[in-house]
Amino acid sequence: MARMTLSGIKKSFNAVDVLHGIDLEISDKEFIVFVGPSGCGKSTLLRLIAGLDTISAGEFRVDDRRMNDVVPSRRGIAMVFQSYALYPHMDVYENMAFGARLMGLDKAEIDRRIDEAARMLRLEPLLKRKPRELSGGQRQRVAIGRALVRKPKVLLLDEPLSNLDAALRSDVRLEIARLHREIGGTTIYVTHDQVEAMTLADRIVVMNNGRVEQFGSPRELYEKPANTFVATFIGSPR
Ligand code: ADP
Ligand code: MG
Repeated sequence: MARMTLSGIKKSFNAVDVLHGIDLEISDKEFIVFVGPSGCGKSTLLRLIAGLDTISAGEFRVDDRRMNDVVPSRRGIAMVFQSYALYPHMDVYENMAFGARLMGLDKAEIDRRIDEAARMLRLEPLLKRKPRELSGGQRQRVAIGRALVRKPKVLLLDEPLSNLDAALRSDVRLEIARLHREIGGTTIYVTHDQVEAMTLADRIVVMNNGRVEQFGSPRELYEKPANTFVATFIGSPR
């Protein structure tokens, strides 16, 4: 289970407010997309959920457990970074094993999980390669594989298609949709692209200037945009 509750989440950097009080209730197994213009706070919110930055005010809960002060490795939440952030000196296997070792899993369990993730993502022939020997799409799959090996209840993806060429984008998008169904957990997917948001999401969080403008299904946003910003951003006829 991974029901997530964000209540009044604020974040400031050096006294500059970036998130102004985010309230969200996300159900188990939902595919949620955070969409909004560059600089609106999407990555910041994702990092707070992952535990990579501290929340300035408000509360974050998963299944009624307060998460504000829980370390990232114990949250059951894994993040795939926009830049992939693979370890360049480690091969694919080692990249995938590293975070699992930090969780305290033994080698047999880690190998079992790597086999499973590698099969899902068609990485079996690449396990001995270094990141520099991989294409952009292959690196992306390793970054996702590294997250899956941790068997997270919640998978966070920050603009996962932005470094891929157009031809690969639709393939990887379909692959992510398939993985979401196969893993059976909750996915939060960040993008600045309305079309990606509308095609992937169960529900979309439209963000602007550190606030949530609207939270609803693609259809709700299209048919009943809450304001002009949402209407313009989603491109609905209003
Ligand atoms: P998005 O992912 O939607 O493009 P971000 O969450 O990266 O936006 O950034 C939101 C705002 O917070 C931006 O104005 C950015 O400059 C600022 N910001 C993000 N991280 C930091 C940081 N570590 N220190 C200072 N400002 C930051
Ligand atoms: Mg970002």
